[in-house]
Amino acid sequence: APTETLLELENITAGYGRIVALNGIDLKVQTGAMVTLLGANGAGKTTTLKTISGLVRASGGTVRFAGEDITQTPAHEIARRGLVHVPEGRHVLRGLSVRENLELGAFTVKDPATRRKRMDEVFALFPVLAKRQHGDGSLLSGGEQQMLAIGRALMHGPRLLLLDEPSMGLAPKLVIETMQIVKRLSEAGTTILLVEQNARLALKLAHYGYVLESGHIRMQGEAATLRADKSIVQAYLGE
Ligand code: ATP
Repeated sequence: APTETLLELENITAGYGRIVALNGIDLKVQTGAMVTLLGANGAGKTTTLKTISGLVRASGGTVRFAGEDITQTPAHEIARRGLVHVPEGRHVLRGLSVRENLELGAFTVKDPATRRKRMDEVFALFPVLAKRQHGDGSLLSGGEQQMLAIGRALMHGPRLLLLDEPSMGLAPKLVIETMQIVKRLSEAGTTILLVEQNARLALKLAHYGYVLESGHIRMQGEAATLRADKSIVQAYLGE
């Protein structure tokens, strides 16, 4: 079947003041695929996601989403087009119920019927959120808050989901559970770009992987190929 490129980065550079974080990144995500971005702390993974979603401005290069140049597009407009970023940390809003947290996620969705339908879908995917929908979001456990953060992103009806370390800080059992949810989203057709500390796990789920090193793409390939390469596993996957 012909594959269609949903996201494309071409020679992206970005940084913070004089700090160069990304030094010429080329990356592609095909529609329907799950791609993982790996690398040591400080390699530039988070900056790559932020540059895609418009939270950090590229100093050079091009980001294209669904065939359109979004390099200079404001973050809220990028989200409105269906490119949704779930940042590191869970960012659940204290003092708001689970339901209100989800409704905030749907700010791009004008039609109330669509909002209701999306909320039902989120509740079907995460029954614990349905059960706790009237409770304060910040009182959920770490794993439940991660579900809420993902659920809030799903309220947009994303065409592309950027996930930054969804398993961070979770107990091992919840890491597996969270990854199973990511897998289900992918199987249901959501295109995903995943940053994950647990490289071995990420390469099991993803179709394709990129290894970042000091703001460069050091290596890329089919996930199965990267996983099978002992030198890669030792040098870049922290084993
Ligand atoms: P981690 O796994 O630790 O989050 P990462 O691969 O996501 O690492 P980035 O957070 O993208 O890496 O950081 C890339 C580089 O940019 C690092 O050298 C980092 O110190 C620097 N950096 C990141 N955020 C800022 C900032 N707000 N101000 C200045 N430098 C920053």
